[in-house]
Amino acid sequence: MSSINYISKIINLKGFCVKKVNDYKNCRKIYGQMELKEHKCPCCGHMTSKVHDYRTQEIKDISAFGYEIYIVIRKRRYVCTHCNKRFTEKIPFLSKYQRMTKRLIYLIIEKLKDVSSYTHTAKEMNVSVSTVIRIFDNVNYTKPELPEVIGIDEFKGNTGGEKYQCIITDIKNKKVIDILPVRYENYLVDYFKPCERKNTKYFVSDMWVPYANIAKTYFKKAVYITDKYHFVRQVTWAFEAVRKEEQKRFIKEKRKLFKRSRSLLLKRYSELNEESRQAVAAMLNASEKLYSAYILKEDFYDIMKSKNKEEAEKEISVWIMAAENSGLDRFIKCAGTMRKWIDSITNAFDCSYTNGFTEGSNNKIKVLKRNAYGFRNFRRFRNRILHIFA
Ligand SMILES: [Zn+2]
Repeated sequence: MSSINYISKIINLKGFCVKKVNDYKNCRKIYGQMELKEHKCPCCGHMTSKVHDYRTQEIKDISAFGYEIYIVIRKRRYVCTHCNKRFTEKIPFLSKYQRMTKRLIYLIIEKLKDVSSYTHTAKEMNVSVSTVIRIFDNVNYTKPELPEVIGIDEFKGNTGGEKYQCIITDIKNKKVIDILPVRYENYLVDYFKPCERKNTKYFVSDMWVPYANIAKTYFKKAVYITDKYHFVRQVTWAFEAVRKEEQKRFIKEKRKLFKRSRSLLLKRYSELNEESRQAVAAMLNASEKLYSAYILKEDFYDIMKSKNKEEAEKEISVWIMAAENSGLDRFIKCAGTMRKWIDSITNAFDCSYTNGFTEGSNNKIKVLKRNAYGFRNFRRFRNRILHIFA
């Protein structure tokens, strides 16, 4: 096989006949033209194969053989023998107004499914950063249908002049379905109100009040769930606050007891070995407040094993009373929060839906943001996130 036939076969551009190949320092130019064939006049519909003139165009293709590849094509302009209209021949592998092959554009868009930066993709594809961005700006994800199980959360995106953006996920199918520029209630109302909402059976969120208001107003038939991780965290925070306050009060000698106190005290008692248990006992002996806080923490973690809403409701109600009588400000406050959210908290015990996937997505977004040194343009940020998770 001659090298020209070989290259024709390898580059695989349908209808393109290779005439000549020139190698330069960093690039390979492949010269040729399309097969001559009858074209339909766009004006009158008559068939013609009469060539009027030629125009040469250089088109960038996907890099290969260690070279940047350019297709130098001698484009024909046909003339209609019936109405005299002149028009350029059809080239199936070239998009209108682009100086790149369609497949290069597709590949760039495909590459942007990674969390890597535009600069990285530009380098990899041998095109400019502005080209990558211009291509990606044609990608647009429209507003989706709402899923059966909605997860909603916020993340620090710092985009479009707003600190927090809102992420909406399909928890059941593990998909990010939309990104909103803000998490304010009026915005959420405008977003959810026009949606088809009757298919949503569960709505999972943290304890941000506007989410709860949206769930209660617009998803009346859905079960509203406070994410487990978020309400357990309230107890952990209360405990940590007590631990820090108490530790600060101790004189130097006693402080020695509190080596590794954070990790030892936050672990479940049942998971500690004998040595650690003794260390914990010594810490708890030093402070009555710390002891009470520890019991409340351990009790709450036990409650997390409840099998259903009914059982959890009973247990948490008892816990709330104990916390309110503990004399610990932090736990009194925490008990108030639990009382306020008890219905949606206990709903979490009747099903296994959590915002774990949503939180995981937020971590991936964090990496994307770090690689790109941030995003200023919200529209582009949103499309990029949805593209990555598509
Ligand atoms: Zn014509």
